[in-house]
Amino acid sequence: MTTFQPLPSRSPSASGPSTRTPIAVAPGDGIGPEILRATRPVLAAAGAPLTYHEITVGEAAYLSGVTSGVPAEAWDVVRRTGVLLKGPITTPKGSGWKSVNVTIRKTLGLYANVRPCVSYAPFVPGVDGMDVVVVRENEEDLYAGIEHRQSQEVVQCLKLVSRAGCERIARHAFDYARAHGRRKVTSIAKDNIMKLTDGLFQRTCAQVARDYPEIEYEHQIVDIGTARIAVRPKAYDVIVTMNLYGDILSDVAAEVAGSIRLAPSANIGRHAAMFEAIHGSAPDIAGKDVANPSGLLLSAVQMLVHLGHGEVATRIQNAWLRTIEDGVHTADIHREGHSARRVGTQAFAEAVVERLGAAPQKLPAARFASAPAPAARTEEPTAPTFAPQQKKLKGV
Ligand code: NAD
Repeated sequence: MTTFQPLPSRSPSASGPSTRTPIAVAPGDGIGPEILRATRPVLAAAGAPLTYHEITVGEAAYLSGVTSGVPAEAWDVVRRTGVLLKGPITTPKGSGWKSVNVTIRKTLGLYANVRPCVSYAPFVPGVDGMDVVVVRENEEDLYAGIEHRQSQEVVQCLKLVSRAGCERIARHAFDYARAHGRRKVTSIAKDNIMKLTDGLFQRTCAQVARDYPEIEYEHQIVDIGTARIAVRPKAYDVIVTMNLYGDILSDVAAEVAGSIRLAPSANIGRHAAMFEAIHGSAPDIAGKDVANPSGLLLSAVQMLVHLGHGEVATRIQNAWLRTIEDGVHTADIHREGHSARRVGTQAFAEAVVERLGAAPQKLPAARFASAPAPAARTEEPTAPTFAPQQKKLKGV
């Protein structure tokens, strides 16, 4: 794998609103190219001040012999721009190549995966009023995919968790809550069973919470937490959790809100950021012009906010909300008798473009700040504060 040389810390607004911000774009696999083809005209019509540098990552790169799935020239572009808008990537299940998503997140140090799960009821069925943000740790835990074969019949997966990693993600969640006027942060893990790894995560979250006295803090075990999110999602505000739990929880939360096909995500690091829909490459519908491009489009909105282009982000988000309100829906959320018009991928994007400048009439209108969103923390986590512990055999 190419080693990623970190860029100096990037100030997203440094380019100012009048200059264009260079970004890398990767169409990805499956429905990726068509949802990106739908997203770019919306960005252009809204006047997003961007220049695009297209890169190839994923299946095509892998099949051409690049074993990491990310060619050296793609790393160069991402390294130069520091921002990547990416389509979903196919990762073979059970065998085959390693996830390109995990490789990109880990190589670029994108430690925070921020996934807003918002309801658009009654226009898309879901829990009315739900507005939960899942902040998922993005580099550590079982999800790193560090696996070994012990013998022909025994395999092992390593769960690596560091105090620095826990503190970084906990602070990101609390900073996010503070910056967005959120009232509560819930940490979720399985510390009753995995007392060292998940225990470290929980203890660090509780410790960080003390620095944010105005924000309520609570902790839940992942099994009951997931069950409660499924039935009482409005009891949650910001959720901070470990990598694997966050992957699952954010899909559950997005689906309860309405649909995983609408949910965006921001992968934030100290030197780079990547924006992508939370759904996968959907090979079953690829090339049919039926995919919903909303997840990627709303990820592009998150990217614009991150870059300090809040005004353009607001225009696109409001046009999108109005399109959803007007019942112009792709097949996945279309409902006979509720939706006015069933459209394909490209026609949906055209409908959003037609509504640029319009505002939603019932759903809350977006209003993003023109200043850049709070970026990743640039300081190192604080020095360890847990007292060294004596080694003792427990529970045997
Ligand atoms: P998936 O999300 O691709 O598809 C699940 C179901 O949802 C399918 O029926 C699909 O048709 C539908 N769907 C997904 N996105 C849609 C959209 N935008 N519009 C309409 N319908 C949509 O999940 P999967 O089938 O488990 O995974 C397929 C591939 O995607 C796998 O190789 C997996 O590893 C990969 N994946 C990639 C990412 C990523 O790149 N971030 C995330 C998840 C899965």
